[in-house]
Amino acid sequence: MEIINRRQRMASVARKLRRDEDKTIGLVPTMGALHDGHLSLVREARRMCDVVVVSVFVNPAQFGPGEDFARYPRDLTKDTTRLADYNVEYIFAPAVEEIYPKNFATYVTVEGLSEQFEGASRPGHFRGVATVLTVLFNTVRPDFAFFGQKDAQQTLVVKRLVRDLAFDTEVVVLPTVREESGLALSSRNNYLSREEREAAVVLYRALQRAKETYREGERSARKIAEAVRAAVEAEPRARLDYVGVTDAETMEKIERAADDRPVLVAVAAFVGKTRLIDNVVIQPARERRATGALTG
Ligand code: AMP
Repeated sequence: MEIINRRQRMASVARKLRRDEDKTIGLVPTMGALHDGHLSLVREARRMCDVVVVSVFVNPAQFGPGEDFARYPRDLTKDTTRLADYNVEYIFAPAVEEIYPKNFATYVTVEGLSEQFEGASRPGHFRGVATVLTVLFNTVRPDFAFFGQKDAQQTLVVKRLVRDLAFDTEVVVLPTVREESGLALSSRNNYLSREEREAAVVLYRALQRAKETYREGERSARKIAEAVRAAVEAEPRARLDYVGVTDAETMEKIERAADDRPVLVAVAAFVGKTRLIDNVVIQPARERRATGALTG
């Protein structure tokens, strides 16, 4: 395993792998403080690709003023040890100046999609995400890039970015890894006290409520959102930021859940001072038609 700090070195290593050795490259972009959620992406990258590159970069451009950029957990030594277990070939861990050199002036915005939900609560966040991914994709030129469903809106932003700007990279989205309690793994869980960690399970519980509400026959997006809100409000340590009930593929707001399209229920809430997000995709309850009996 090699730890690469320089963009040029990363680009030339990747170029050689592609051109001279005909290897497929998988990129797993992360901000480090790796947990089993990240490692599930690494495992799939390992399975699908000849060479795995994990980037570890706490991207200042995706943090707003007053957010946790400075105190975001950083432990490259521990991350390196964890990645060694997966035989990762390269860790790309650039300094900020390496990605954003002096006079850096070009930013990428995925319009529309970036402005709602996470984007509304964190203005500029997805511009930072799209920009750093553009730099990473152009540096590594991965055949596949791996992302977690945990950041549902991010996966849609990335897919749009790749499609619109014609990156030759396939986006792979993998399921959210959770603790036994249901709490989605997140580097930000490190901020939580023991009591807050217990309280944080409310996000998962609220999303389960959304699912149950749907299963009970409710199709109104407003009513499903209300169920989530009520569940979050039942936890005194939690404060709801938003709940979105949208089409799962476009993240467009809907009034009613359609019979033939999955619904995304996305939630953000503060637990103490820590802001957490989670989501669930509800698959439509398709009518089972006894086609065999009819045609047979
Ligand atoms: P981050 O380091 O938070 O930027 O996350 C890096 C990648 O790991 C993103 O694609 C996340 O969606 C993904 N990820 C984070 N937490 C989880 C989780 N609990 N399960 C699956 N993927 C995750």
